Amino acid sequence: MSLRATGASPALTAAIARADWAALLPPLRAHGDEQPVGRPTCVAALDLADGLVLGVLEDRAGRTYPVPLVTAGSEVRRARAGDGAAEALIDLLAGGSRERDGFELTAWYHRPATGERSIDVDQTNESVIVAEHAVVKWTFLADEGPHPAPSLLAELERNGFTGMPRPWGALQWRSPPSSPRLIALVTEYVPGAEDGWTWAVEELRTAAQSGEEEPARRVGASVGELVASFHRALAGTARPSTTAEGAARRSGALADLDRALAVTSGRAHEVLACHEAETRAVLRDMPIDDTEVLRVHGDLHVGQVLRTRAGATSTYTLTDFDGNPVVPPQERIREQPAALDVAGMAQSFRHVGLVLHKHDPDLDPAVVDPMAEVARSAFLDAYRQALASRLDLLDERLVRPLALRQVCREFTYAATHLPRWSYVPEAALPMLLARGGLR
Ligand code: ADP
Ligand code: MG
Repeated sequence: MSLRATGASPALTAAIARADWAALLPPLRAHGDEQPVGRPTCVAALDLADGLVLGVLEDRAGRTYPVPLVTAGSEVRRARAGDGAAEALIDLLAGGSRERDGFELTAWYHRPATGERSIDVDQTNESVIVAEHAVVKWTFLADEGPHPAPSLLAELERNGFTGMPRPWGALQWRSPPSSPRLIALVTEYVPGAEDGWTWAVEELRTAAQSGEEEPARRVGASVGELVASFHRALAGTARPSTTAEGAARRSGALADLDRALAVTSGRAHEVLACHEAETRAVLRDMPIDDTEVLRVHGDLHVGQVLRTRAGATSTYTLTDFDGNPVVPPQERIREQPAALDVAGMAQSFRHVGLVLHKHDPDLDPAVVDPMAEVARSAFLDAYRQALASRLDLLDERLVRPLALRQVCREFTYAATHLPRWSYVPEAALPMLLARGGLR
């Protein structure tokens, strides 16, 4: 099948202009953040199959919403699971990687797959499962790129990294001179997968209830090995960081503290203000020289680790290669210290402990917190050991300040997006500062 951009026929353009956004957006995203304004305009279109078109729609503010469309008759509507748009995208992968009229299809793998179903979990984008083999994730709002996932997944594929759901393909679109935008991503579907905010909390609960450190140590070590194999697969992108980059990292961290102070209120603000001087001192001391940087995940925490179990065997995989949503696109693809991912993951084990305080108030924090430290230490030890000959990739001096910067960002995230998360940074900040050194 050819990769043919229709350039949007006049009939299609007119039908889209007449349509309501409500008929074009994923039902789960028809309200809330990032809603389009004004009428939809079709700026590009790609034939998927008979009666199915991928439309790149713009709103009056110039934002880009990719929409799989059913075009039968004189009206258009968003394709639903069962209409075949996700299957058709997988069919396109059979023809290999190619470019046409601004669309760029990358094909790593495919197998024929029919039968679509939607998933109704909380999601930012719209994911459709095809034949229980693949997930097609249609981007809800396609920001100007470059999106980090296509190039990162390509590098991981090239180096045989297997610790992720297998990537099948990516569809991007660009209107020069602007950078490519991610329209859809196709990945292997992992049935029965749970993310770490479920499985890590469970394991820590088991450890805290029994007093046995083993479950906490085991999960920490498994994740440490996984993250080390991920960084080893990316080692080909490593280079020395410049002093200017180091200085920007430090001033960026201080700016994250300022922003957190500016957007928080109430108890969160009090906690921050009370620890401001100490936090600022650690960030100001962040080393800026002699650091290796490489392509990284950029938004690593236990929630990005999926776990599946078959009998006594647990398998862990990394997901969500969207990078850090709070940094601009050009920075999301820039090489970073491995310590950024390491600090994010290590700190998240502490946050798992804090989540457990909230969910199980009967468990003694004096038991839970040390167990969280066991998981965190096991993560760091296993990471270092598995990094082996590439231990030079980890600049240990950066782990603590980058964890602190992450906590500052979590204050901001809670204040601007998710108030019910605020208890986590509020407890994490004093806890982190109270622990000197790396451990
Ligand atoms: P979004 O960007 O829309 O939030 P995510 O990629 O974060 O989508 O996925 C949403 C949820 O779907 C995740 O929390 C995870 O539980 C599940 N998930 C993601 N990728 C897969 C996969 N390949 N197989 C099975 N489940 C997955
Ligand atoms: Mg996600």
